[in-house]
Amino acid sequence: MTELAGKTALITGSTQGIGLGIARAFAAAGARVAVHGLEEPTDLCAGLMRAGAADAVFLPGDLRSADGAAKLMEGAAAWGGVDILVNNAGINHGRPLAEMPYGEWCEVLQINLSSAFLTMQAALPGMAARGYGRVINIASIHGMVGNPGKAAYAAAKAGMIGLSRVAAAEYAEAGDAASGGVTVNCICPGWVDTPLVAPMIAEREALLGTGREAAIADLLGEKQPTRRAIDPAEIGAMALWLCSKLAHNVTGTAMPIDGGWTAR
Ligand code: NAD
Repeated sequence: MTELAGKTALITGSTQGIGLGIARAFAAAGARVAVHGLEEPTDLCAGLMRAGAADAVFLPGDLRSADGAAKLMEGAAAWGGVDILVNNAGINHGRPLAEMPYGEWCEVLQINLSSAFLTMQAALPGMAARGYGRVINIASIHGMVGNPGKAAYAAAKAGMIGLSRVAAAEYAEAGDAASGGVTVNCICPGWVDTPLVAPMIAEREALLGTGREAAIADLLGEKQPTRRAIDPAEIGAMALWLCSKLAHNVTGTAMPIDGGWTAR
């Protein structure tokens, strides 16, 4: 198991869903965990402390603006800097390209992509100076395949993969195997059972008149061959492994966890 004692991790958008799954995995590995999101749920930090975090704090910052990202990173710097940065916060406006208002396009690009550029810009120099750093960007399988109704979302996720490759190349020589180096990677999930996809599951449940599990299997059958939704804990385990020193040569990758979606 990866040991994160002495490391500080910031996970954006970690009040629920995938971000919370990653925060819990890092807490169990003994990291100091900074969680973030639009609002702080009761008991979030206390729960992470019970899970094993050396410390836990909630940092605010609305990522719809560059000022919000700056506020978040100022909070993180004041709390001791960032060894591990997970850019996970994200939204989706599902709408055909021709009908998408420009404001919605900009909002998705700002939260899902530009905020990651800003947080990385703030965190990477310190990681290089310390010889250890991990940036894990939560992209999506939609950054690799094109599906209707996802223009802004897919553009942002493909952009996240490109941004990560460039950052990986720029920081590849920082540190060494003993210190762990500085790596930048994307995780590209398929269907994950989180509040983000809850409306789509509910819609399918109503359409079929079946239970939730049958609705998920039907929905996933179109894309994800395993027909099993991904649990946020599975992504937490993947992110945790990327944080190990052993993974110092894994950089610039876009790792699918998609139940075989892109294998077909
Ligand atoms: P979610 O809706 O459950 O959680 C989103 C998080 O982002 C929340 O903590 C929320 O507070 C935060 N957030 C939203 N808008 C924000 C803003 N303006 N400023 C600051 N924080 C904000 O989402 P999720 O399903 O856990 O998805 C997390 C990430 O994983 C997203 O980037 C999403 O695109 C990606 N993803 C999700 C799936 C899936 O099937 N759920 C699949 C592939 C990729």
